[in-house]
Amino acid sequence: MNSRRQKLIETNTKYHMVIHLVIGVFIAIFVHRLFPFSSFSKTLVLSLFGSWLPDIDHFIFFYIYGRNNEYSKIVRAFLRQFRLKEFASFAQNNHKELTGLYSHNLASTFIAALIFFVLALDVHGYKSVTFALAITMHFIYDIVEDLLFFGHLNPNWFLRFNKPKHQL
Ligand SMILES: [Zn+2]
Repeated sequence: MNSRRQKLIETNTKYHMVIHLVIGVFIAIFVHRLFPFSSFSKTLVLSLFGSWLPDIDHFIFFYIYGRNNEYSKIVRAFLRQFRLKEFASFAQNNHKELTGLYSHNLASTFIAALIFFVLALDVHGYKSVTFALAITMHFIYDIVEDLLFFGHLNPNWFLRFNKPKHQL
């Protein structure tokens, strides 16, 4: 693998969540330009919230539908003991191994994008437009990251959950 791609992978691994939020800031700027009458602060709050929201599914996975998964057991042990730093670094380095999140698939990405386009036709609905766009972009960033890391998408995007991730 060339060193530039390796460097990009390292940066994305380290700053995955930060990048989600930075994309949120750009979405807020974009929507505010598209709808000049919109409140920038409201747009920003909604956009940051929408950019983070799909990842709430991690916690639903850890505690409910994926609770028997090895990854979930490790995470729950860290959280139970309030070892938050270790939890953060474990998640940072291993989240690409997790291919069981029901929300992270191409169908939900498409539905979120469709909702965004439909809502964008109504000029007064800038808040819901922001929210739908932020959710869409969350999935798109995760997809782009899979392509960068593996050269293919992980199986969850094709609704094949808990299958081994693609190898490098
Ligand atoms: Zn995600």
